[in-house]
Amino acid sequence: MMGDMRTLPYDPKYPVISARHFTPANRTAIDLAVLHSMEAPEKPGTARAVASWFAGQTAPQASAHYCVDNLETIACVPEPQVAWHAPGANGRGVGIELAGYAAQSGSDWRDPYSTLLLARAAVLVAEVCWRWEVPRVLLGPPQLLASSRGITTHRSVSEAWKKSTHTDPGANFPLMDFLGLVETAFEVIDRQAMQGLVK
Ligand SMILES: [Zn+2]
Repeated sequence: MMGDMRTLPYDPKYPVISARHFTPANRTAIDLAVLHSMEAPEKPGTARAVASWFAGQTAPQASAHYCVDNLETIACVPEPQVAWHAPGANGRGVGIELAGYAAQSGSDWRDPYSTLLLARAAVLVAEVCWRWEVPRVLLGPPQLLASSRGITTHRSVSEAWKKSTHTDPGANFPLMDFLGLVETAFEVIDRQAMQGLVK
């Protein structure tokens, strides 16, 4: 299946707000899901607002594949194309922006808003992992530098390649809990695949 993009058991049909800046690449392989925090408030509409910023006349020299908040997942750049989110890893990665701040505490990441956000983001990450056969393992800087495949953060990408100073989604982001949510979501997709519900 490598190099052959799988079809999901359901087409998520996320709303699209196309980012202004990305690099056309028509990739046939993805190695990394890279997690970010948007540095934007935890409120409904934040995913749409940040996606609109990526899309607009005043767009930054940045983009991501997806923006996620508690209620919506917005697709900004098609996965085969390269978004500009984590220098060093952009060519191999899918970038996912989560509403909230890198400075959030552990309890901030467990409030009702973040609970919905993380459940929604975990489904998206599971879909990316399933589609591109990305292992559901957490990668730190040494694994990134060794070209391993898996799930990582902007912070680890920055530490690995020193091309950015960003440390999001922050020291208190509940990575292990999130990986558990991804695993659960992945098992649902994979079970549907085994039942022949996926081509
Ligand atoms: Zn980031």
